[in-house]
Amino acid sequence: MAGNTGSIVGVNGNMITVAFEGAVSQNEVGYARLGELRLMSEVVRIRGRHADLQVFEDTAGLGIGDQVEFTGELLSVELGPGLLAQIFDGLQNPLPQLAEQCGFFLRRGTYLKALPRDVRWAFTPTAKVGDKLTASESLGHVPEGIFEHRIMVPFGWRGTATVVEIAPPGSYTVEQCIAKLKDEQGQVRDVAMLQRWPVKVPIEAYAERLRPTEPLTTKVRIVDTFFPVARGGTYCIPGPFGAGKTVLQQITSRYAEVDVVVIAACGERAGEVVETLREFPELTDPRTGKSLMTRTVIICNTSSMPVAAREASVYTAVTLASYYRQMALNVLLLADSTSRWAQALRETSGRLEEIPGEEAFPAYLESVIAGFYERGGVVRLKDGKTGSVTIGGSVSPAGGNFDEPVTQATLKVVGAFHGLSRARSDARRFPAIDPLESWSKYPSLVPTDMVESARRVLRDGNDVGQMMKVVGEEGTSLEDFILYLKAEYLDSVYLQQDAFHDVDCATPAERQRYVFGFIDRLLQKPIGVKDKAAARRLFHQLTQATKDWNRAGMGSTEFRELEEKLDKLVAEVS
Ligand code: ADP
Ligand code: MG
Repeated sequence: MAGNTGSIVGVNGNMITVAFEGAVSQNEVGYARLGELRLMSEVVRIRGRHADLQVFEDTAGLGIGDQVEFTGELLSVELGPGLLAQIFDGLQNPLPQLAEQCGFFLRRGTYLKALPRDVRWAFTPTAKVGDKLTASESLGHVPEGIFEHRIMVPFGWRGTATVVEIAPPGSYTVEQCIAKLKDEQGQVRDVAMLQRWPVKVPIEAYAERLRPTEPLTTKVRIVDTFFPVARGGTYCIPGPFGAGKTVLQQITSRYAEVDVVVIAACGERAGEVVETLREFPELTDPRTGKSLMTRTVIICNTSSMPVAAREASVYTAVTLASYYRQMALNVLLLADSTSRWAQALRETSGRLEEIPGEEAFPAYLESVIAGFYERGGVVRLKDGKTGSVTIGGSVSPAGGNFDEPVTQATLKVVGAFHGLSRARSDARRFPAIDPLESWSKYPSLVPTDMVESARRVLRDGNDVGQMMKVVGEEGTSLEDFILYLKAEYLDSVYLQQDAFHDVDCATPAERQRYVFGFIDRLLQKPIGVKDKAAARRLFHQLTQATKDWNRAGMGSTEFRELEEKLDKLVAEVS
């Protein structure tokens, strides 16, 4: 496609209005010329012969009459081996290399290739000459980290591709031709490992979408047991500033049972993202003992970067996640925080002078948010294998008030809600997921009736606790008091979990079933104590012993001794 040119007739912040001839399409990329510089931008609206473009850079210096070159291409990312372990900005510029070239004060108009061009990948062909394939079917594979990275027929391929030539086993760069494919019109095209894909178009080169039903173990007890996430499901973590959204997402990225993690970090402060960048590469993968980065991709934005790049970053992230799903991998996409993204939408919409919806967010906020989460899901690929993209998005509503447009729009579309509570984080009850407000539509790894009865204990115990604040302990019956102690016990030994303890930080599914089984039996049991003091003493001992139990390696001598101790404590009062 040949690109058009146009000239700027208006500049408003990072938005430019361009008069053009010929054809220009929505989401097409254009470059605004500023002397030697070419500033990347994207068409966000077309009206007659005028296009509005959001510029991904500071527009200082751009003025009326400056030229814009349209590329004829939609805003796209590069897909291929070499994505894992990288840290990109929202436009897929590798950040460390960018910083090396221009220091941390990025120079405008500098765009780098996302995939290294000089690295050679050991390609093993699986397709044979004469094979008839369709989009996304395998041509071969290369090793990347701990995975076999599939090299596939480009996702945009229409109809059948007949393999005319396939490269022999050997080392190739991402740009070298590894197959010649003939399309249905008889035209032969060179295919390389590298392919480009427009970020705002879902990758749907699979056989069918499946319902997300299989639990994704995050190893966070309150999540897996009470408010589970399914592979290919979606969930949302709203919470006020400092309630633990980022810590929770970090834990999940480390311990969740998935193959690849894609992190879209839209920082609330510049410092927060820098922290992520500094800390993350130092984390080790509990599964392999190697750096966690080897199966992670980070897309990184700070609120000091132009809003348009922030808007692009969540799409870049979900596109990369979907790419790995096509390789029959389970991918987890964590977006922190989607509120910053929504603010970018609000700013853009404001500059376009669109009719605002609630709280000045654009009227289409809900459909944009729904569209993003819909890109998650489990799919059956054309070879019969499955892959998944699970999406978890944090939301940081001002003042922690969930009754605002971004939280509400998100709650309409996600399958689970992990609401963080200021009261719990202030009381240092971490993770601060509110056990009374949160919900999930996905199946738990323990039986539903056990979860239900535990939730009843939490609710009723909480009611007693509220009442006790008014009438005091004396005004509370022994029976109610025990209920209150049971709820507190469940909270402190099971819902709360020490993110910074080697063993307690991650509880595997099997261990959750085991420990929750014990707790369930205890919660069901009538407790025979003579007075409140005895009840308090008992639960104090139970709490200490269970906390120690959580910190002991499962099956260790210590683990067994503590279990015996707990059984004895329970037996004494039965
Ligand atoms: P947010 O992203 O919601 O603003 P953070 O995740 O940065 O909040 O958490 C703020 C602070 O709360 C952390 O620096 C840490 O001290 C504490 N914290 C959060 N989650 C936990 C946790 N699971 N265990 C222990 N401390 C936590
Ligand atoms: Mg945070």
